[in-house]
Formats: sequence, C-alpha cells, structure tokens
Amino acid sequence: MSTASYSNTSTVGHYINGKAVPGSSGRHQPVFNPSLGAAARDVTLATAAEVDAAVSAAHAAFPAWADTSPLRRARILNSFLALLNQNRDLLASMITAEHGKVFSDAQGEVTRGIEIVEFACGIPQLLKGDYTEQVSTGIDNWTVRQPLGVVAGITPFNFPVMVPMWMFPVAIACGNTFVLKPSERDPSVSLLLAELLTQAGLPAGVFNVVQGDKEAVDALLANDHVKAVSFVGSTPIARYIYETGAKHGKRVQALGGAKNHMVVLPDADIQQAVDGLIGAAYGSAGERCMAISVAVLVGDMADEIIPRLAERARTLVVRDGMDATAEMGPIVTRQALERIEGYIALGVEAGATLVVDGRGHKVDGHAEGFFTGGTLFDHVTPAMRIYKEEIFGPVLCCVRVPDLAAAVALINAHEYGNGVACYTRDGHAAREFARRVEVGMVGINVPIPVPMAWHGFGGWKRSLFGDMHAYGEEGVRFYTRQKSIMQRWPESIAKGAEFVMPTSK
Ligand code: NAD
Repeated sequence: MSTASYSNTSTVGHYINGKAVPGSSGRHQPVFNPSLGAAARDVTLATAAEVDAAVSAAHAAFPAWADTSPLRRARILNSFLALLNQNRDLLASMITAEHGKVFSDAQGEVTRGIEIVEFACGIPQLLKGDYTEQVSTGIDNWTVRQPLGVVAGITPFNFPVMVPMWMFPVAIACGNTFVLKPSERDPSVSLLLAELLTQAGLPAGVFNVVQGDKEAVDALLANDHVKAVSFVGSTPIARYIYETGAKHGKRVQALGGAKNHMVVLPDADIQQAVDGLIGAAYGSAGERCMAISVAVLVGDMADEIIPRLAERARTLVVRDGMDATAEMGPIVTRQALERIEGYIALGVEAGATLVVDGRGHKVDGHAEGFFTGGTLFDHVTPAMRIYKEEIFGPVLCCVRVPDLAAAVALINAHEYGNGVACYTRDGHAAREFARRVEVGMVGINVPIPVPMAWHGFGGWKRSLFGDMHAYGEEGVRFYTRQKSIMQRWPESIAKGAEFVMPTSK
C-alpha cells in the first residue's frame, strides 16, 4: 500500500511482523474528522489474541535485533529519519485530519518527534558503559546496559506522532522490540510510521502496531513477554497502568494529566505575557498536556492583563485546521466538546467571572464540526472544580494572588505537577521560583517548556507514575537494564575457595 493511501483506508487495522493486518475481531469504532463532525473511517479494536500475536512477533524478532550492533541499528534509524523528513507534511496532514489541530501546529508536532529520532541515532555513544581497570589485583569491572525484550507503548490522542516517538525510537535503538497501542481516536498515522520503519530497513517484528481499547491494553499488561510499558494519557488510566503493570512484574512509566499554571509577576513584560498565555492556553485548543490552563496573576498585574487577554481570546481565529489563517481548530470529539462546555457551566455556577464565553462557536461550512471558542474566567478560586480538575480544552482560568510566595504555595498544593511557567524580569524571583516550585518542567519566560530530546520529559506528583522520565538519557535507562561484569584471568594456579566477602586487594 502506498503511504498516501493511508488517509483513504476505510478501516484502520494493525501492523504486525512487518505487514499491515486487517482486524479480525469484528469490533470497531468510528474515527471522526472533527472539523466536519463526521465519521471518516473505522478503526478495528484488537482482541487479546491479536495482541498476543503482535507480542509473539516482537518476541521472535528480539534476539536478532538485540544482537544487531548499535551502529547498525542507528543506521536504520538514520534512514527512517530521512523518510520522516520526506513525509513531514503528509504526517502533519494526517494528524490534522483526525485530531483537528491546525496544520502548522501538527508540523511542529512532527518536528518534535523527529528530534527524538535524531537523539536515538546517537545510540552507540549513549550505550557506552563504565569501565574500571584493576578494581582488585588482576580484576577489572565494567557495566553494560542491555535491552529488556518486548516493550509496549500506549499513547493518547493529543500527539499521535510525537508521543509514540517519545518511546519507540529510543526503545528500538536500545535493542528492544516494540508494540504500540495508539489512541483509537486518531489511529491512522501509526500505520504510516510503521511502514516508514519497514522502508527504512527495520526487520519484521521489531515494530508492531495494535489498534484497540481497554481489551488490547489489558492484554498487553497481562502478557509475560512484555517487559516494560510506557504510557501517556489521563491520570486515572496512568495510575491503573502503573499498578496493573507492576502487579504483573513489569517496569512502568505512566505519564498522566496536568493543570499547568503560568505566574505573571507585576514586573513582567505584559505584551510577552499576553502572547505567552494566549498561545499556551488556546494553541491546539488546549488539548496539550503542557497547555497553560491557569494564569496566576500577582498583585496589580490582574487588572492590567485581563482586558488584553479578553480581547485576544474574543478574536481568536477558530477554523478548520487546514485553513492557513486558523489559530485554533476543533475539539477532538463531540464528547470532549460537551465535557469542556460542561466545565464552563460549572465555573459559572461556582461563581467565577466568565469574561469570554467560547461556547456554541460556529464555523461557516462546518455546521457539525466540534468547535468551541476560547473561554476566559477571572476570579477563579482553588476550591472550584474548574481550578482543580483537568478540563483539557481552550479554557483559561485566572487566579489572583498577592505575591510570589502565595503563587508558589498555590501551585505546590495542586495535585498535578507537569509543567509551569513564570514571567518576570527579576532574575532572583525567577531563580527562587524555579527552585521552590514542585513541578517537573519549569519555564522562565517560556510558556510551554517541553524539554529537548536529550533532556527527557516528565512531570511530578499525579502527572507521572514511575521513576523515569520519557526519552533522553532517562529513556535509555528505562529501556535497558544494567549488568555489571567483573573479570579475572588468573595467570596460573587457582587459590582455592574464599569465604569472606571479596574486597579490593
Ligand atoms: P486516555 O487516558 O483516555 O487514553 C490514553 C490511552 O489509554 C489510549 O491509548 C486509550 O486507548 C487507553 N485507555 C483509555 N481508557 C482505558 C482504560 N479504561 N483501560 C486501559 N486503557 C485505556 O487519554 P486521552 O484522552 O487519549 O489523552 C488526553 C490525556 O492525556 C490528558 O489527560 C493529557 O493531560 C494526557 N497527556 C499527558 C501527557 C504527559 O506527558 N503527561 C502527554 C499527552 C497527554
């Protein structure tokens, strides 16, 4: 099948052992074009037996792939990198078609995924171990990091290219084989990634895709051949994956939901703060785990900035994601749209001031599209549900606080700790903020501080279950286990058994 034909497939199937495989379960669900509000195709939902077939293919491919030298693995990733660059716009348009985000944002998503592949191409350097000569007379000791076996990735709808690419390039570079279970809401692009890997020369079975829902996820969690699971999605499911995976003896990293704050201090450049907040709150319709959903306005800043935020929120250009003028596209599903607009009603009921109401936004020619406009609340308090819970939509809540200490205390008391930002011109305040805030990723005058490929991504508190962040060197550690080798080549006669704990001689 040619790559371009993926968008026209009527039923999105699996990719197992180097080949596209139609689903056989008979279970399937529609995949929508959110801009039109219409089903574009179906996605098949795997049975446990289909998942087990994918895991078996990955298990069979593991020994040869683990024995392939890191440099040869990196060469295949380099070919994959070239293919990704050639297909950058096709990948981005497939994201927009099923997710809804604007095309330029989808291109950015593809670029951030490509950066992980660039990082993974350096795997020979990353897998270098440590060596100590002469730890005792005639004995050397060194450590190597070896792959785990079959590893699985379970990913959310909001980054159908980037989040899988936080996982599989690093995992397969380390010598593991991989089974991806993408989101059932925007599944098509996963098959294009699989085909590009095959075209790049990846052996059959090293990378597999199973489409599905809870049944597929549970089958992956229960399969003994799956040694590690990387998950990204909402907090309740992240916790379930972490607990269930651990119960089955697996290594798990489970990244969850978020409620990201941006503090604006009274000395901040107000125009930069407005631009930062508007882009971070409404970009990708707020459907980013690093979206800013709370503005923490310190002192007099609130009265100055709210009118400017309101003006920009009211005039956001909300259209089909392929329209070059669009700043924000539709919401992924009708259900998500209803949840978001439901939260806006809850905010009004709780007594927050609704400054801009995005509900009921209509786009010409897209009467059935899942659109909502940008919403802005002022006078939000920590007791309100719109403050406590993740809305995952274009709703910005403003909370007023007297000073920086109150801002930090507010953020530290929140159950999530994914990303945070602080806008200021005061270096000391910025430094104090970065040191004291209990959040995994911090931006100083940077609204969405998604770390670069070699730094690793992960939140704190209920935004991450597990010890290791995604990608970067933490990713390499997650997908490998350390082995220590101690070696002696005695010159001649054995000295007999020793019964005391060996120490350096
Ligand atoms: P989700 O939790 O609904 O789904 C994520 C994955 O879990 C999907 O593959 C889905 O099929 C599977 N899943 C859903 N319900 C399940 C169940 N009951 N049992 C087993 N598996 C199940 O998340 P979503 O709506 O696709 O994505 C949005 C969420 O992801 C938001 O909460 C967002 O903050 C979060 N997210 C977090 C990060 C991060 O890095 N922390 C990044 C992106 C998205």
